[in-house]
Amino acid sequence: MSFITHLECTRCGKHFAAGQIHNLCECGSPLLVRYDLQRARAKLQLQNLRSRSPDLWRYREVLPVTRESSRVCLGEGYTPLMLARRLGDKLGLPNVYLKDESQNPTGSFKARGMAVAVSMAHELGIRRLAVPSAGNAGGALAAYAAKAGMEAAIYMPEETPLANRLECALHGAKVTLVPGSIRDCGRVMCERLQGEDWFDVSTLREPYRVEGKKTMAYEVFEQLGGRLPDALIYPTGGGTGLIGMWKAFDEMQELGWIGARRPRMFAVQAQGCAPMVRAFAAGAERAEEWTNPQTRASGLRVPAAIGDFLILRALRESRGAALAVSDGAMLTAVREIAETEGIITSPEGGATLVGVRKLLADGFLAGHETIVLFLTATGYKYLEALETLTLERIN
Ligand SMILES: *Cc1c(COP(=O)(O)O)cnc(C)c1O
Ligand SMILES: [Zn+2]
Repeated sequence: MSFITHLECTRCGKHFAAGQIHNLCECGSPLLVRYDLQRARAKLQLQNLRSRSPDLWRYREVLPVTRESSRVCLGEGYTPLMLARRLGDKLGLPNVYLKDESQNPTGSFKARGMAVAVSMAHELGIRRLAVPSAGNAGGALAAYAAKAGMEAAIYMPEETPLANRLECALHGAKVTLVPGSIRDCGRVMCERLQGEDWFDVSTLREPYRVEGKKTMAYEVFEQLGGRLPDALIYPTGGGTGLIGMWKAFDEMQELGWIGARRPRMFAVQAQGCAPMVRAFAAGAERAEEWTNPQTRASGLRVPAAIGDFLILRALRESRGAALAVSDGAMLTAVREIAETEGIITSPEGGATLVGVRKLLADGFLAGHETIVLFLTATGYKYLEALETLTLERIN
């Protein structure tokens, strides 16, 4: 099963015991899980994976859950990685792939993180989970909490898409709508739940969501037949996926799967909420909070990220970049992906197509490179935003 050894602070390096409940380090920074990869190496080999279940638990040696009975599974992970032929022809990119995360439970890749976080909560005996969410994280938490028979409390911005609000309520979660952004939701949640025994599963404030999301990197490697792409284009909010995949590459090197070369990581944000883009351009180590964040891509409406320094580090060390795209361009890109590749993705997914075009035009990417776009959620949860694209076509 798991080869977890301990947890480690991302800033001061302090170690914490596995098998206990943790949020942040005393220094206020996120913790990451560490494994005995020298021992895992004998078991976690590509050829051993073939017979395993088609979900993220196929990478159990590098996941924190120690007992199979703790797993709360709805079939998360192992989503298709598809060569985008028609889109690639249009872009002049014969090796562009789509990682279709819409096929996860609850229609978004937030299921990956919540599956592992809720399973760990289950293993550690936690019964009540709370999260501020711009949309999909709340839905995923509500679903996994329901499956595990736990209570969930979700704090969402008033303008969260209807689908997200309804799914949380349907799964029996306690939903509180808050004016403002996810950041305001976090503040209200802390005030309301102070002194109560609710466990905070906010992005990177608990160490296991990132473990679930890192499995995207393992999958891409496996699905490309044991190699990594040249570039990853990732719609970035709190950065869990970027940080997780960056961690996974280090693990894969220690497992003997890869050498020192890494894919270049590109973060795409919305023009109306681009704190990482601003910090990246300024050469800053941390990102300042974005005031008045505005975008229809609710997953990108994250004005401040506690893991900002980890996101920026991954972008720089990989020789990647951060770029901002407009909401209008994202939505048009959703239509383009739907028309050429048969996938209805979310505005965040659309943002990756806008991003790849910009990166090609600016000479950051070359035509022969293998590039993966992360289509992080289904467009079916964003009907309010997509309606404007299609009205003129329906009569
Ligand atoms: C949460 C979310 C993102 C951002 O993911 P992070 O890993 O937190 O940066 C992107 N797209 C969608 C659809 C999301 O729900
Ligand atoms: Zn610390």
